[in-house]
Formats: sequence, structure tokens, C-alpha cells
Amino acid sequence: MSEDYRGMWENLGLDLVAHDALLEVLGTGYGDIYLAQNDRPEGMGYFDFVMSEVHGLRIKELMDEKAAGRKVIGSFCVFVPEEIVRATDATLVGLCTGADFATDEVETLLPRNTCALIKSAFGFKLGKACPYLESADMIVGENTCDGKKKSYEIFNELVPNLYVMDLPQVKSVEGRALLKAEYLRFKEAVEQLTGVTIDAERLKSGIEIVNNKRKAIHRLTGLRKADPVPISGLDALLANQISFYDDPVRFTESVNKMCDELEQRIEKKEGVFSEKTPRILISGCPMAVPNWKLPWIIETSGAVIVGEESCVGERGARNLTDDSRDTVEELMEAIVDRYFQVDCAIFTPNPDRLEHIVEMARHYKADGVIHYGLQFCQPYLMEAMPVEKALEEKNIPTLRIDTDYSMEDVGQLKTRVEAFIELIK
Ligand code: SF4
Ligand code: SF4
Repeated sequence: MSEDYRGMWENLGLDLVAHDALLEVLGTGYGDIYLAQNDRPEGMGYFDFVMSEVHGLRIKELMDEKAAGRKVIGSFCVFVPEEIVRATDATLVGLCTGADFATDEVETLLPRNTCALIKSAFGFKLGKACPYLESADMIVGENTCDGKKKSYEIFNELVPNLYVMDLPQVKSVEGRALLKAEYLRFKEAVEQLTGVTIDAERLKSGIEIVNNKRKAIHRLTGLRKADPVPISGLDALLANQISFYDDPVRFTESVNKMCDELEQRIEKKEGVFSEKTPRILISGCPMAVPNWKLPWIIETSGAVIVGEESCVGERGARNLTDDSRDTVEELMEAIVDRYFQVDCAIFTPNPDRLEHIVEMARHYKADGVIHYGLQFCQPYLMEAMPVEKALEEKNIPTLRIDTDYSMEDVGQLKTRVEAFIELIK
């Protein structure tokens, strides 16, 4: 880290000992998994820097923004519309949910059989280890799966500023009306928090910033169709993960700059893995920082990941918001239209997701799909079976993996992944 940030962390109320331990594990894991890769694009240097400063410089930037009167809003889900937050010059950040932390304490508040993602959110709060959570002026929870919506009742006791957004579970006219009503309520809450009234110009600007970020991600994902693939799945995942933390304009520039380099690599037929390396599409639960376990296993077992059907991936970034309309009301409708297409497994029925996975497998020329389900995540584990059936009907080999954030099952997972890669070869 470029500076000593201990004073800042202390002011945020972090437990410095626990936080040091976290940073050490994060740094070692990053070195072993990321820096150990060969032939990485030079453009990844920016993302390595962002990761090295994820609790340092980026938090300092947020503190500076707050000192200048701007607000920080934390979220756990891609249903929270960043366009609305940006329209008030506030910053939306993803909150840490990718590692186990303070598990014993968490299990005094939540049942053991709760998914690792929810436990992680609680662990970072109870363990006082997440500077994003502590900097947030508002934390948005969303009524998606049962685990999340019930856990927010308890989380509400731990933080002073939880805002819960209700979400539809069915893609119906009534479901869309609920989403619209909730987004209008959220807009009001953000306006109240920031003291900024959102007019059409502000909303258009918010939409433009977020659309540009998504367009850059689309450009990056499109380049992964090439063989050899110019960037590893681990690195592409990292860029997606960082999109939830970084300044969106700087992020967009950095991704586009790296894409220029990747285009040159493709022209020269340069890749991170040799041509004809088995290509894998990952589908399922989101992978937040620092959840790199399964991609690391796959890419050290002789395959390359060419796409993520995930909220930290194409499910989260795939559609743009129409910014061609003129009034706040029309632009809000456009935002609702955009988010109502997100095909999270909390929706029932959810045929769009099945079609999208098949389409992605074809688009990225995947030789097989690995479905990643977090243990105790009912929506994704239940949906894994129809996903597998839909893919196998199209002769796309599929492997279902259920796991959590611990490293205990690495050996066993590696054996299964290696056998799957042998099969698809
Ligand atoms: S998987 Fe569903 S609940 Fe989770 S972040 Fe995505 S949309 Fe939200
Ligand atoms: S991983 Fe599954 S159970 Fe966990 S929060 Fe997401 S949808 Fe809910």
C-alpha cells in the first residue's frame, strides 16, 4: 500500500488486528492466484494496483468525497440501480461478501446452514473488517432470496443505516409495477440522503456513466470469444469484481485501454493459454472479491474460462439503460425496463436464464459449463438441475459444483474439475 492508512481505518472503527490479518491473507492469496499467472496483459497492472489499494487509496478517495459533501451507498445486489445513485453524485460500492470472516460470531446470529455470501456480510460487520461497510452512509439490502430477506431483519440491528428494497419474484405486470414503485421510493430516499433533486439531466448523466462502464465490460467479454483467449478468466473476473468498487469513469477508461491491448494480442494470435485449450463457461452464484477458488482450480487444471453467467459477470452487466428519453419519468421507466431483465434465480419461473446460459455457451464457444452453486443457496442449487438438463439437451457437457468459501474441498474439487476437462477434451 502506498501510504499508512491505519489512522483512517481506526477512525472508521475497524479492528486493526483483525483487519491486518485479513489484508495479509488477501495479499498472500492474490500473489499465489493472480501474480502467479503467466502472460497476463499489461493492462492488468492497473487492476493489480487497485487490488493492492482496495482498503487504502480507494477508501481515502471515498473519505475525500464524503468530506466534500458527497455520499457513499453500499449494496449487496445488482438490483440496486447505480444510475440513480450516480445522478446525485453519490458513489455506489459493492460490500464484501466473498470470504469467511468471524464465522463463530456469525453463527450466534444466523443458522449454520446459511449461504456463505450472507454469512460473509455479517462476518465483515461483526469482525469490523470492511472499510466500505463502515464508510457507507446508507446500506441497501434487497428482498431477493429468503436467506437475504430474513437476515436483513437481524442485520438491521447491527447497522444504523439499512434501507431495505422490496423486489418482485415473478416477471409479471404486477412484478414490474412493484419494481417501479420500489425504484421510485429508492430515488426519493437517495435524494433525501444526498440533498440533491434528480432532474432529467442528472439522471441522463448517471445513466451515461453506468452505460459506459457496462459497454467497456461488454467489449472485454466480447474479446474472450477469440482462440487463443487473450485474457484469463481469473483476470476478467477480477475486472468485473473491481467494477463494483472503483471510480466508474476511471474503471471504464482502464478497461477500454486494456481492450486495445487485447485486440492487438488477438491480431498476433497471442493468448494466455494455447490455442484449443478447453473452454469453460461458469454459471451460477456471484463471486465477490476475494472468491477466486473455483476459477483458480479450473485454470490450473488445463482449461480456460471464457465467460461468467453471474451477477459478477454477464447477468449483472449485460443490458444497457435506454438514455434516449427526455423526462425523469421516462428515464425511470427505462431503468425499470433494464433491471427487470436481470434473470436472477429468485424469479419463478425463470426460463430466460436457461436460454441465456445456452446462448452464452454458444457465443463464447464453450466446450462445457460448470455450474457453481453456493451451499445452502436454494434458488441457484434448485435451478442447477433444469440448467443441466437444458444444456445437456443441447449436447453441452455440464458439471455441477456445490461449495463454500473454505479451502477444505480444494483437492476434491480439483479431481472433479480435472475429470470434467478430460471428458470435454
Ligand atoms: S444473484 Fe440475485 S440476489 Fe444475488 S446479486 Fe444477483 S440479482 Fe442479487
Ligand atoms: S447465494 Fe443464494 S442464498 Fe446466498 S444470498 Fe445469493 S441467492 Fe441468496
